[in-house]
Amino acid sequence: MTGFTRRETLALSTTVVSGMLLAAPALAQGRAKVVIVGGGFGGAAVARTLTQIDPDIEVTLVTEAAAFTTCPFSNLVIAGELPIQSITFQYDALVAAGVRLVVGRATAIDPAARTVRMDDGTALSYDRLVLSPGIQMKYDAVPGYSKAMEEVMPHAWKAGPQTLLLRDQLAALPQGGTVLISVPNNPYRCPPGPYERASLMAHALSKTNPTAKIIILDAKDSFSKQSLFMQGWEALYPGMITYVPFSENGGILNVDGGQMSITTAFETFNGDVINFIPPQSAPHLALDAGLGGDGEWCAVDQATFESSFVPGVHVLGDAAIVGDMPKSGFSAAVQGGVCAHVLSAMLNGRAPERGTLLNTCYSLLSPGYGISIAGVYRVTEDGHLKSVEGAGGTSPIDATTEFRAKEADHARSWYSNLTTVLFG
Ligand SMILES: Cc1cc2nc3c(=O)[nH]c(=O)nc-3n(C[C@H](O)[C@H](O)[C@H](O)COP(=O)(O)OP(=O)(O)OC[C@H]3O[C@@H](n4cnc5c(N)ncnc54)[C@H](O)[C@@H]3O)c2cc1C
Repeated sequence: MTGFTRRETLALSTTVVSGMLLAAPALAQGRAKVVIVGGGFGGAAVARTLTQIDPDIEVTLVTEAAAFTTCPFSNLVIAGELPIQSITFQYDALVAAGVRLVVGRATAIDPAARTVRMDDGTALSYDRLVLSPGIQMKYDAVPGYSKAMEEVMPHAWKAGPQTLLLRDQLAALPQGGTVLISVPNNPYRCPPGPYERASLMAHALSKTNPTAKIIILDAKDSFSKQSLFMQGWEALYPGMITYVPFSENGGILNVDGGQMSITTAFETFNGDVINFIPPQSAPHLALDAGLGGDGEWCAVDQATFESSFVPGVHVLGDAAIVGDMPKSGFSAAVQGGVCAHVLSAMLNGRAPERGTLLNTCYSLLSPGYGISIAGVYRVTEDGHLKSVEGAGGTSPIDATTEFRAKEADHARSWYSNLTTVLFG
């Protein structure tokens, strides 16, 4: 991928969204204002693309921290293969491209006044608001877990200090010790992520702690790229990783940080390290503004990302349910590119075009062994973003070692290209 301009990978098809009610063209006086909350994959893609295609729009990017640490490749940090600095990016290139950066936490949205309130009491006004704020953990979903407990049983499902905590715990695992990984039910951020994590933990342990065990307690009975993962585990780490699906654990009843245990309907599991990944939802900021309706994720028009409940607000990335697309960084970035074209059209009084979107999820089973799944998505006549049949696909099960090594190289190229496009 080289950029999010009209002609490239995620170029919009020429199909015009018919019958759509357009917002009034950009304000008669002054530049139209787009405020974007969230400086991760989705938000950075909107900001980057808008500055490229429509410099007349005033783009403000609101982000909690002055730098962004990516979840993609954070499993390599946990495995001790990369320093965290190599997955941490500044916003200088976006600022140089004309984006106004506001570092702070957005605390509330007032859709009637078209303002976003910030934690320092200021308010930002917008003509169109984009939210790509990612996820929040449902800390109270399982008895015994809590925000405080993440320091004992880290989730590391937002990259940063949690990543480093889990890395350090893994490095200190006693010889022959046990790592428990608990995985929530769908939907959650990065469906194959927990299984990539188990693989890269096994890669690290196989060098320093070869009798260690990893047990995955899943809240479901199957997972993305399962046969490819299991084949790889057998080849690379025989006997080290045990997968316990929902049908064999019956669901988690509670966790105990003092005992370092997880109790399921059928058995209590003890771990020297427990990577507890809680269920997730869209962040409070979005749900409190009514963007989730009665649900926990934001419902949107799948062609324009405009909220189904709150006009003028577009939601994308992990916080939204966007048709068949999985919650991935690549999905969020592609949606952000398309959303920027939609915003430019709406603010200039044109009908937005429909995008053809794509996603590839690479997973590393070791630094030299990659697998992938890809999909192509298009909005159907009835307004749903659906997988295009026959497009995309999964890595072959009978691939050679060279093929797996090439996929690992492709994963590194993908990461490097995407982060360069977004963050410079
Ligand atoms: C271990 C792991 C591995 C992964 N690997 C991959 C992979 O290989 N490929 C892939 O495509 N995806 C991967 N993902 C998924 C990917 O990280 C997410 O899908 C992606 O980050 C979603 O983008 P987003 O824009 O929705 O949210 P994010 O990228 O999380 O960005 C949200 C940003 O908004 C900020 N924010 C939130 N609320 C506020 C607020 N109120 N005010 C100001 N700022 C706010 C947050 O701090 C954050 O910076 C992985 C995830 C995990 C956990």
